[in-house]
Amino acid sequence: MTFKELKLNKPILRAVFEKNYEQPTLVQERAIPIILSKKDTIVSAPTGTGKTAAYALPILQLLFDKQDAPKKGKKIRALVVCPTRELAVQIEENFKAYSTYTNLRTTVIFGGTSFEPQKEKLKKGIDVLVATPGRLLDLHKQDCVNLDYVETLVLDEADLMLDMGFINDVRKIERLCPTKKQILLFSATMPHKVEELASSILKMPEYIEVAPTSSTAKGIQQRLYYVPKRNKIELCLHLLRNELKGTCIIFRRTKFGVDKLEKTLLNNNYKAVGLHGDKSQSMRQEALNEFIKGTSNILIATDVAARGIDIKEVDIILNFDIPNVSETYVHRIGRTARAGATGLAISFCSADEKKYIKDIQELIRKEIQIIEEHPYPLDPKAKPVVHKKKGSKHKKGRKSVASKKKKKRWY
Ligand code: AMP
Repeated sequence: MTFKELKLNKPILRAVFEKNYEQPTLVQERAIPIILSKKDTIVSAPTGTGKTAAYALPILQLLFDKQDAPKKGKKIRALVVCPTRELAVQIEENFKAYSTYTNLRTTVIFGGTSFEPQKEKLKKGIDVLVATPGRLLDLHKQDCVNLDYVETLVLDEADLMLDMGFINDVRKIERLCPTKKQILLFSATMPHKVEELASSILKMPEYIEVAPTSSTAKGIQQRLYYVPKRNKIELCLHLLRNELKGTCIIFRRTKFGVDKLEKTLLNNNYKAVGLHGDKSQSMRQEALNEFIKGTSNILIATDVAARGIDIKEVDIILNFDIPNVSETYVHRIGRTARAGATGLAISFCSADEKKYIKDIQELIRKEIQIIEEHPYPLDPKAKPVVHKKKGSKHKKGRKSVASKKKKKRWY
């Protein structure tokens, strides 16, 4: 299928071609016609599959087809709500790029930064507003945002918004928009609470599931290192020195962990930057820019700070800590191998984290390749845990001598 066959208008097609998109991704192919028909839609698709364009392109097309007369002034007719500032900025950039050849205007508002410039931008009149929930409600309270004309409401990364405790804000925002509107809900995973929200606010939605909620992109090679907690930094330095080449995002569970590793890597002359929620907005943006420009080739981040960030050509994802929520693993490694590219995802698992690996493997329905040969094995004598699966040929217990000799094994 081509973008032309999706019946997009010329100005939008021109912008898409300038992005060098040769053909729609699967989620775009399936979602664009439904969104153009103005139906409520739930889309469950892995990160990095082109979700943003899947809603931005048809929204712009609908707005373009039905523009207000210039003298009436611009009104917010599409509202995109998403959980993090970084994601909001990125979505705004996408809308701006796709609407280059139209006179449609997009702006973004998010917390942690001063109100005035955002108020000024809103005053000028816009067609599309991208917002994080808290700042949107604040500015609405101050009478700076009018949601009375919203025709399409997008809830992006709905699962993370709910995880971050935005459920009441999201419901409030939905009620502030007109009753008659199109709602599009995008979520990388579909936990029960997202389904509950969807069934309470969407009307007879179309449901698009591009891949199982738990799937990881095909191009990602996944590797697992069992390593004592105390040796994780050494193993990280060892791999950076000897094996890992290219751009790398390292995920840590805590802000403290991000700061500590950033310091260590800088002391070892690596160009690393840290990203977490305790850093100011300008520091976060600066860290991202440094990584995007290539001034730094290692970004160390917490999950919330990194979710949804679209950084092209990330070669390696390193899970320094194993996430205790399995879906987070899928999100993390979804930062590499985006839009069909290839990538490497490495995970460091200490003894207390083995249970999370078991859950992750069950979720992704895949056994991660264990790298046994490295300088900091968890317990040289201990056998890695083998998770017996229904129909699996592998049995619990000791491995044969022949298989012990292999450098890498699949479980
Ligand atoms: P997203 O899932 O929206 O974060 O998009 C992931 C990446 O895919 C972004 O860098 C997009 O610019 C890119 N992308 C989106 N649609 C296409 C397409 N049809 N062809 C190639 N790349 C795309």
